[in-house]
Amino acid sequence: MNKKKNVILPNELSKSFSFIRMLIIYLTICGVGVIVLLFSFNGLIRRQDKKLTNDICSLITEKINSSISYMTSSAVNMAAGLSVQNYSDLQELYDAMSQNNGGSGYVSIGFIDEENNIYASPTELNEFEKWNLMDTARLADPVSISAPYRSGKTGKPVFTLFADFAYDGGKNGYLFLTYPLEEIQRMAYTESLAGDTEIWLMEASSDNIIQCAGSNKYFIGVWDNALLSLRKPINDRYQETYAAWKDKMNAGEETAAITYKIGSKTYTQVCSKIDFMYGWYVVVRIPSSSLSSAMQQFRLSVLIFLGILFIATVIMFIVSHRGETKEKKVLENLSIQDPLTSALNRRAFDFTAGQYLGYLGKTLKNEASLLFIDIDYFKHVNDRFGHEAGDKILKEFSAALLEIFGNDGYVSRYGGDEFVVLVQNGDKDTINRQLELLRKKAAAIMPCDSAEECGDFVLTFSCGAAVFPADASDLKSLQTSADNALYIVKENGRNGFGWYEKEE
Ligand code: GH3
Ligand code: MG
Repeated sequence: MNKKKNVILPNELSKSFSFIRMLIIYLTICGVGVIVLLFSFNGLIRRQDKKLTNDICSLITEKINSSISYMTSSAVNMAAGLSVQNYSDLQELYDAMSQNNGGSGYVSIGFIDEENNIYASPTELNEFEKWNLMDTARLADPVSISAPYRSGKTGKPVFTLFADFAYDGGKNGYLFLTYPLEEIQRMAYTESLAGDTEIWLMEASSDNIIQCAGSNKYFIGVWDNALLSLRKPINDRYQETYAAWKDKMNAGEETAAITYKIGSKTYTQVCSKIDFMYGWYVVVRIPSSSLSSAMQQFRLSVLIFLGILFIATVIMFIVSHRGETKEKKVLENLSIQDPLTSALNRRAFDFTAGQYLGYLGKTLKNEASLLFIDIDYFKHVNDRFGHEAGDKILKEFSAALLEIFGNDGYVSRYGGDEFVVLVQNGDKDTINRQLELLRKKAAAIMPCDSAEECGDFVLTFSCGAAVFPADASDLKSLQTSADNALYIVKENGRNGFGWYEKEE
């Protein structure tokens, strides 16, 4: 009972709860902080990726647009020259012009007259039908450009440029020039920054693509097939975002950007409209790893740093809490124990005994006894054997008390040579037997090392006792009753014990 662990200290439990609460609050704040940091980092990286990819895409589109615009203006100039010369026979003109292309970069040249007769090679005539080129020709005002298609003549992708011109005194005809697409592909390719960059020309409505740079270089076909040939489709959860991106292209939006994943790799893909080539876009796709590797490295370093900081703080938290708890325990023990004998001090005894009697008072089930024990003539021990010897006797006497009553009672050194014990028992016979045992143990305690030195010395004590609730109903009056009983024992010559007797 007197052991430290049995003493319930006020607030001890709530203190350890408040530490756990503090730790949980700290962990929550750190967790929220890291999530916010990650979100803003990822947002920053995504924005940065989109901006960079957009810049690259704009650069390529600008180059393609200016080169197409160069082609269109040279076609317009050529058409204007032909209009001035006012040819009457387009077959003659075709025969003359198709012989030499003047090194202007086009694959072939041809004409369409007012009656829709086409002056071109037989293979080209087939292509007019196959690719509906006449529809594109009618859009020429002053120029129009066909979608890219595979030339029957060269087997390579080409596109045809139409320009209207006048002949035979004011009739309206079209001049057409077919250019290899390789020119544009090469142009886009030289602009590509890293090996990972993929560049396509893409027709918004059909999903047809022509790859200009990347692993499938010069692929011409449908987007899905391009991805299938790579065996890497876009992750399911991005399919809708991708469809929305395509919708923007179909709606004719100038530029649109999207970030999606294929497997574990994140890509940023942007598009930019090509002038004159109706419905066609330049599409650039770059993996995040090549765009923002420095940023990602930085994010990883920050996370590692935060992780180390976090672990260090938690360790510091726990270590300092443990140290504090230890210190508190020592201080608490000091404040509840008598430093000389390790028995409870007066304050701790009054508190615990008061609580215990309060509890007994409520249950009305058990009795308890309070013993007031005082060593006889202790002053003489000090005088005869010295203060140190007195201390030794106090310690050994206290140890004997704890041995006999410690398991079922609270033992305290109340002051000087006075001890108070609260026993969870109201049976006088049992306690008398325990006191008898104490008498024997006390008699064996010696203030000195040898029997000669000690002479006839025998340590005795007097004890007065009272029973709760029979003799008194609270601690204070129980102490008074036991004290009265002790007084009588002292009066009667000491070395004995007596129970409080109520005056009738
Ligand atoms: P009685 O039989 O009437 O109790 O006589 P007593 O001499 O034991 O009583 P008294 O109260 O006169 O003396 C108690 C003495 O205990 C006085 C004091 O010097 C001594 N004392 C009190 N505290 C300590 C202590 O911590 N160590 C030692 N060695 N002596 C102490
Ligand atoms: Mg005494």
